[in-house]
Amino acid sequence: MPSLTFLGAAGTVTGSKHLLDLGTHRILIDCGLFQGLKELRDRNWHPLPIAPAAIDALILTHAHLDHCGYLPRLVAGGFRGRVFCTPGTKDLCSLVLPDSAKIQEEDAREANQQGFSRHQPALPLYTAVDAARALTMLQPVGYDRPVPVVPGVEVAFLSAGHLLGSAYARVRLADGKTVLFGGDLGRYSRPVLPDPSAVESADVLLVEATYGDRLHPEDDDGAQLAAIVNDTVSRGGKLIVPAFAIGRVEEVIYWLKRLEEANRVPALPVYVDSPMAARALRFYSERLDELDTDLKPAARGLSVFATQRMTTVASVQQSIELVQSHRPAIVIASSGMATGGRVLHHLAATLPSPKNTVLFVGFQAEGTRGRQLVDGAKLIRIKGRDIPVAAKIAKIDSMSAHADAGEILRWLSGFSRPPSMTYLVHGEKGALDALSVRIQQERQWPTHVAAYLEQVEL
Ligand SMILES: [Zn+2]
Repeated sequence: MPSLTFLGAAGTVTGSKHLLDLGTHRILIDCGLFQGLKELRDRNWHPLPIAPAAIDALILTHAHLDHCGYLPRLVAGGFRGRVFCTPGTKDLCSLVLPDSAKIQEEDAREANQQGFSRHQPALPLYTAVDAARALTMLQPVGYDRPVPVVPGVEVAFLSAGHLLGSAYARVRLADGKTVLFGGDLGRYSRPVLPDPSAVESADVLLVEATYGDRLHPEDDDGAQLAAIVNDTVSRGGKLIVPAFAIGRVEEVIYWLKRLEEANRVPALPVYVDSPMAARALRFYSERLDELDTDLKPAARGLSVFATQRMTTVASVQQSIELVQSHRPAIVIASSGMATGGRVLHHLAATLPSPKNTVLFVGFQAEGTRGRQLVDGAKLIRIKGRDIPVAAKIAKIDSMSAHADAGEILRWLSGFSRPPSMTYLVHGEKGALDALSVRIQQERQWPTHVAAYLEQVEL
């Protein structure tokens, strides 16, 4: 009897890893890093309950680190199978995995230099060599094209509308049964990304519940962003936007461009302080036909993702100069939850002044600096220093790339028959429980909130 074991994103939003054990073969669906709370991050260091060498193949739903960022560690641990993903995911993985390795190595190095690690010496979770090796194992597969993964089992990727290349993975077992791994679900009627594609059936379904207990605010045509930009300009400050280098940057720039064109905000210098974000923008521009149809042919080309005074900050020296500058500007830098990356230097420099604004545009997981700031922390620890928070902290939920409860239910309403079981994953407890109850009440489907390391029979 095939079984499924939840090795991550069970009871939490990060660390997505689902092990499909067919008896003869084992397939891992997603291979994400745990992020946020220390107790969760520590799990990245625990051995998996299965030897990496015993996993035959891997399927990635998309290139966010909480879905792919553990892959180099798996490879370092002996995994030698193929990694199936869409071409867009392969593109973005070529950016995020080496970058993640660099951050791991830098953090370990800094911790050793400054002695603020409890581990002597601090080691990286994986290295650039591990990441490069992992990239050679990626096997791109276009959307809606079933391919064999291991004998008798095939996977097809269906567009999820959550990120360039994002997909649900529909796995068809030897007996014809289908298991749909929902990945992260995108949203309806948003700019840049397409709507999540409709699915009619699955025998077993895994659905994400990041915003399972919430509704996003109605689309306000950029009004909130315009207000935040103009308010920051009136105080003569800088606007810092921590953003995942892949995913939110495109939408932030899309809106800034629209607001500038309508003269609703001044054309400020906009700095994309992330070489990776700039490269990701190029991948987006190259795959416009996979994006929202609103990105009309007339507007096609790189200009879709460029404001009037946009600069890509390439070198570290330029980034340092930008951190030290007090001139009004908009700075977009990663990481999105302020867990690492260049944004930390910008935050350390701007948080102490009430002139500045820090704007969060994505989900902030428990235990991250982003969550602490959004929750109103007055002191934030960055690189071993306590930084006082006087800057304005703002948050726009409408730019989320995750479906809210209503959108998840809308997507589920496309099913012509109920799955025999719907497992809820990728959410914090309140969101998982709330969505579980709603699916039971509104669709009368059996549901189960997956627990960490729980194994279920299919
Ligand atoms: Zn995601």
